[in-house]
Amino acid sequence: MKICVLVKEVPDAAVEKRINPQTGRMDRAGERALNPYDTHAIEAAMQVREGGVVEVDEIVAVTMGPSTAVRALHKAVSLGADRSVHLSDDALAGSDVAATGYALAKVLSRESPDLVLLGQQSDDGECYTIGAVVADHLMMPSLTQVIKMDVAEGSLRCERQAEYGYDTVDIKLPAVISVGDAINEPRYPSLKAIMGAKKKPLDALAIADADIEADRVGEAGSKVVCGAFKAPPEKSGGTIIEDEDTNDTVEKIVAWLDERKLLS
Ligand SMILES: Cc1cc2nc3c(=O)[nH]c(=O)nc-3n(C[C@H](O)[C@H](O)[C@H](O)COP(=O)(O)OP(=O)(O)OC[C@H]3O[C@@H](n4cnc5c(N)ncnc54)[C@H](O)[C@@H]3O)c2cc1C
Repeated sequence: MKICVLVKEVPDAAVEKRINPQTGRMDRAGERALNPYDTHAIEAAMQVREGGVVEVDEIVAVTMGPSTAVRALHKAVSLGADRSVHLSDDALAGSDVAATGYALAKVLSRESPDLVLLGQQSDDGECYTIGAVVADHLMMPSLTQVIKMDVAEGSLRCERQAEYGYDTVDIKLPAVISVGDAINEPRYPSLKAIMGAKKKPLDALAIADADIEADRVGEAGSKVVCGAFKAPPEKSGGTIIEDEDTNDTVEKIVAWLDERKLLS
């Protein structure tokens, strides 16, 4: 079995998210890291391999992103992927979800995976939709929010988290599965794996290598048009009540709550 895992480089969680008003795109300057949700997808691939029910020949990490995204691939490899594929091309800048999904599907079709795993969401765009777009292009069945995955020869039994409870679904491979963050506890990479990650094979592709039509990606190939952006209103400073006399303090708190109709 061959497993491809989609991974993305995102701004570090500590960096404040901002839209660049000139480009209408997210400001991706500053520290970046592997999307934390994708570490669950890599761990799921590793657990399929280590489970021993099916033989996993290869785990391949795939990303689309600028040159810095190589670091996300190195991290993915240090967590267990055997090799990685980096789709990077100036023509891809400004791609929306549909264009990103199309481009990733083109790369994946070159790999012919039995299973495509991805995170439930990216920590920056948070669209939750790439799995469905990729599956549509690949004509594969797809499940989202999978929190348990039992693999058999040619199929998977998945448990997915739904609003009303849990669904158990049998799905035939090849398939695209986006995993929920409750599926596992990702492992930490060993020092040896971190040191060795840069030596693992990395396939760098431009759009022509993956047979991607230039007019279907980038700003020109994207249907999302961004309107005006404005920053959310500043939070007010709040009310600080100094506790000099406890009875007085309690009265002030009750009056404050009552004024806002927060007491029944
Ligand atoms: C108008 C517009 C312009 C944009 N311009 C840019 C741009 O210039 N540069 C840029 O980086 N983004 C850009 N984006 C964002 C980019 O389109 C999103 O990354 C893409 O739409 C996926 O959405 P998401 O990240 O919210 O994915 P989600 O659906 O939330 O992600 C789910 C999972 O999909 C996988 N995934 C998502 N994106 C990638 C990826 N690129 N490679 C591999 N796996 C992935 C990950 O496993 C992730 O956990 C733009 C978006 C819009 C609307």
